[in-house]
This record gives sequence, C-alpha cells and structure tokens, in this order.
Amino acid sequence: MRIRNKPWAEDYIKKNDSIAVLNPYEEKGNWNQLFTEKQKLALEIGTGKGQFIEGMAKKNPETNFIGIERDKNVLVSAIDKIKESELSNARLVYENARDLRDMFARDEIDTIYLNFSDPWPKTRHEKRRLTYKTFLEQYQNVLKDQGKIILKTDNRGFFEYTLVSFSQFGMKLEDVTLDLHELEDESNVMTEYEEKFSNKGQPIYRCIATFE
Ligand code: SAM
Repeated sequence: MRIRNKPWAEDYIKKNDSIAVLNPYEEKGNWNQLFTEKQKLALEIGTGKGQFIEGMAKKNPETNFIGIERDKNVLVSAIDKIKESELSNARLVYENARDLRDMFARDEIDTIYLNFSDPWPKTRHEKRRLTYKTFLEQYQNVLKDQGKIILKTDNRGFFEYTLVSFSQFGMKLEDVTLDLHELEDESNVMTEYEEKFSNKGQPIYRCIATFE
C-alpha cells in the first residue's frame, strides 16, 4: 500500500504530545506514569493507522496501550483516532522499534501485539523480521513472566517462519489458528490490514505464545 508523504506530519506529531510520547527512551521503567490509571501495559509494534489500538483501548479500559510506528504518514491517522475517541489509555510513539530494551525496563510489559508485520520474504532479509531471534530476545526481556506475544498475519510463509522461530527459541505456543475469523472470537479487534485481507476472502492466521 502506497502512503502519500505528509510533510506536515512531524509537526503534527509534536503538537499532539498528549497522545504522542516525544521522548520515549526517557520513559523507560515509568510508562505507567504517563497514564491516568496504573494498570497492565500492552505494546503494539507497527501500529499503522491505529484501528487496532483504538478498538482495543476502547474495549479494554483496564489496560494501557502503547503503539509504536516508524512511519509518520500513517501515525498521524492513529493520533486522530485516539484524539477523536478521547481515550486516556492509549499513547503512540513515532520510532523504529530497533531495540525495545532501550525503551522499556525488564518485565515492564504484559502483552506484545504483532499485527501484520512486514514479512520480509527474502532469506537475506530474515534479520528484519519482527520474529527473528534477536527480536525475541528483546521481547523476552521486556515482557513479564507469562506475558504473551499475540501475532496475526495473512502471510502463510511468515506465519510458518514465526512458529518455527518461536519453537526454536523454546517458547510455548498456547494457541495456533489457521482461520481466526472462523472462530467468531468476540474479543478480536480487526486491524486495517486484517479487514482488507479478510474482505478478499483470505484466512487470517493467529498465534499466542509465551516464554516458558
Ligand atoms: N498493524 C497494521 C495493520 O495490521 O493494519 C499495519 C500493518 S503494516 C503491513 C506494518 C506496519 O509496521 C507499517 O506501518 C510499518 O511502518 C510498521 N513497522 C514495521 N517495522 C517497524 C518497526 N521496526 N518499528 C515500528 N514500526 C514498524
């Protein structure tokens, strides 16, 4: 999907600092202080235009949500969604999630969501996949014991790669489904990509995993 460049996006992000966290590395260990309520923290990497984080924050007021997105042109739409919904339990970060350990303390996060992450299908790009072992090391560090990684994708190759990567890392697969929408799971909140692919009739794969 081609996203139009929005030269005003960076200024817009800076102006909306009640939603966008402008110095995320300074919040390490203190993320809950940014929210009205101190409660569970969930992190979404690659938030896109924010449909998921907005829906999840509405549906789960007992959790604080943080969305990281490296593309300013889509992040501005996520900011608008959180603003319009007047949600106090969702904050956004304009950053490339390279090493989460610089941004979050050990055990600070309860759940990590990876939604329709870029699959990087070429073998030479394996290290860029968000489920490559170096990313799993980071997730293990910032996630609490028994904290979950919940991943959804339309991409069969990336899904299979992820299942192998999780297993080789010694993670426990709690749930694997090859057709999420068949389950009619009422707690599921659709992302933009999920809506697009399922409207085309493609199955949505999901797995839930923990570090044992
Ligand atoms: N999650 C959304 C959805 O399901 O509709 C967007 C999916 S889109 C394919 C992947 C998004 O992840 C893009 O917006 C991209 O900019 C973002 N992304 C990929 N790698 C990232 C990283 N390392 N840090 C932050 N954002 C990232």
